[in-house]
Amino acid sequence: KQMDPGQHEFHQAVTEVMETLEPTVDRHPEFVKGGIYERIVEPERSVIFRVPWVDDKGEVVVNRGFRVQFNNAIGPFKGGIRFHPSVNLSIIKFLGFEQIFKNSLTTLPMGGGKGGSDFDPKGKSDGEIMRFCQAFMRELFRHIGPETDVPAGDIGVGGREIGYMFGYYKKIRNDHTGVLTGKCLEHGGSLIRPEATGYGVVYFAAEMLARRGLDFKNQIVAVSGSGNVAQYAIEKVNQMGGRAISVCDSSSTVIDEQGIDRDKCCYIMELKNVRRGRVSEYASKYQSICVEGKNVWDVIREQGIKVDIALPCATQNELDAQNAQALVDNGCICVAEGANMPSTPEAVKIFQDNNILYGPGKAANAGGVATSGLEMSQNSLKLSWTREEVDNRLLLIMKSIHKSCLDAAAAYGKEGDYVVGANIAGFVKVAKAMLSYGVV
Ligand code: NDP
Repeated sequence: KQMDPGQHEFHQAVTEVMETLEPTVDRHPEFVKGGIYERIVEPERSVIFRVPWVDDKGEVVVNRGFRVQFNNAIGPFKGGIRFHPSVNLSIIKFLGFEQIFKNSLTTLPMGGGKGGSDFDPKGKSDGEIMRFCQAFMRELFRHIGPETDVPAGDIGVGGREIGYMFGYYKKIRNDHTGVLTGKCLEHGGSLIRPEATGYGVVYFAAEMLARRGLDFKNQIVAVSGSGNVAQYAIEKVNQMGGRAISVCDSSSTVIDEQGIDRDKCCYIMELKNVRRGRVSEYASKYQSICVEGKNVWDVIREQGIKVDIALPCATQNELDAQNAQALVDNGCICVAEGANMPSTPEAVKIFQDNNILYGPGKAANAGGVATSGLEMSQNSLKLSWTREEVDNRLLLIMKSIHKSCLDAAAAYGKEGDYVVGANIAGFVKVAKAMLSYGVV
């Protein structure tokens, strides 16, 4: 900690993982001897760079760019790029660290990394977004490659931004190669990649519910966020017969107790992805509750709204202990994390103490990166699989991740504990690979 002062999110993620890895110490003395626990918390390298670009007024703006290449023991570094004003080294390190275990769980050969910038896409013109993406890639290109490091999207980075970055990479490298995932179909993207994280969260939650003889039918589902993950989680909840009742963005929360049906979900997609508007517009159009300045979990607690299933899909630490307790008190049975580390450690404890089916992000939201892995495979094979084929593979991967978590938890005497299961299952594979390389 002395070496990383102020890196709260990174310390939070490391603490959570390391505490649950304790049982592996006795079982694998070779990991201790090989310094694996010390090595795995240290990134292979962290690159921080200047991103100068010119805004629409002709003024030079300077942002900071990051790429943390955390661990490539089982495959090339892989993880998203986040554009959000809150981005700093701590957040990128926490995300990169989590990504190691998540990618390992997918069963695909991908290491862990993450990148981003403190650039705020809100209110920027399309031209500004393009110039920023190009400026970002002007430095990033020298650190990435299809066999080295393959970035993808995250908060603030979707198909449009990936297109601008990929176009610029292609231009300066003179190489049309699978160096980014989340690409448009026309230039090597995969069907189902946009849907994958949201669909995957719901598939994972369905697996958890099935253990108690339950499913999504007629369940009331609270979703936070209104971006890529939230939109497709809502779409899949609808397909599975549940009723999604909430969305939020960084300005406000909307609760629609009638349910965000297929048409309303399409409206949100158009609102957020095309018009880049605010969710408050939804509330005016569909006469629903709109609370400014509060997130979904605050509003649910304050208004005493009953929820069966919670899918936090916005950002880290959005769901605190007070709100977790309110969910439990109101009968919530299942929490599956679409976002990365959305529940605070205190909230997680409340879920676990109350026997809630709790699926941590690194397992529940791994469908996105898994499908990115499938995009890499298709790029290498120079083939495109059908929608059904990719969706089937995604479903199978989510089932396999769910099983790996349960198997690892049981093997270490923590039956049904998805946190322990995800961390141990993800870790052991990476640790064994690291050990096999010697001290490097
Ligand atoms: P998007 O940028 O598409 O959407 C993020 C959404 O969350 C937006 O609606 C945004 O609001 C809202 N949001 C962001 N910060 C806050 C905040 N502080 N308070 C309230 N709302 C907020 O991102 P994604 O949907 O891609 O990512 C969401 C989460 O899922 C992140 O934690 C990400 O790391 C995780 N994730 C994403 C994957 C993917 O494939 N995209 C894969 C695995 C995990 P606004 O519109 O105001 O910005």
